[in-house]
Amino acid sequence: MPRTERVLRAEVVVLRHNDWGEADRLLVLYSREAGKLRAVAKGVRKMRSRKAGHLEPFTRVKLMLARGRDFWIVTQAETVDMYLPVREDLVRTAYAAYVIELLDRFTYEEGENRRLYDLVIETLERVSLMPDPFTSVRYYEIRLLDLLGFRPDLTYCVRCEAEIKPEDQFFDAALGGVLCPNCGAATPTARAVSMPTLKFLRHYQRSTFQEANRVELPQNVRREMENLLGYYLTYLLERRLNSPSFLHEVRRDMTE
Ligand SMILES: [Zn+2]
Repeated sequence: MPRTERVLRAEVVVLRHNDWGEADRLLVLYSREAGKLRAVAKGVRKMRSRKAGHLEPFTRVKLMLARGRDFWIVTQAETVDMYLPVREDLVRTAYAAYVIELLDRFTYEEGENRRLYDLVIETLERVSLMPDPFTSVRYYEIRLLDLLGFRPDLTYCVRCEAEIKPEDQFFDAALGGVLCPNCGAATPTARAVSMPTLKFLRHYQRSTFQEANRVELPQNVRREMENLLGYYLTYLLERRLNSPSFLHEVRRDMTE
């Protein structure tokens, strides 16, 4: 998006909002056209504002935005999907909130990523409509890692590069993938991962959602998959969140 553009027509998902001034709201959005954006919705906290209902978190909405001094300003809003089942069921609400939070925490205002936008829209639809949203959220985590450049290596040992055999293995977040039993035993930070779970993770990694969803996950695999992906994502987020302050320190040292 050229920085000089005065008006932007965008389709967005609302990630979160904060009160802003007397009657306004500051929105954090993820847009199809320009990635993450911040925009002010003026007057939405006044009674009977027609825009207010369109701008709740995890709503998909079409917006007209005008460039303000600091942020974009919402001039028109039209709802595409409210994901009503997500609002009416606490489990779905929790899943959708997690999907949105991951997107929010892994992205900065760094421009368009159309595939990421499409992934989030597809995932919110699945979370809204599928009888059990579990697989759709695991699939989202795996594709999100791909699109952000953190795809874990699940085929070769990340230490000795031996091909992974069909047996129980180890996984290390810092090394970004699976370790053979020899290297795993010699790596204190590595966690055990069972062969069935690794098999399903690989299947998810190389499949469309329809293919991935066709196989039913055993209960113990569900638990292990969720824990392992959670461990890896948490590790990446902590490292990523630390990096801007580290960069800041380095820059300050250089100018002193
Ligand atoms: Zn190895």
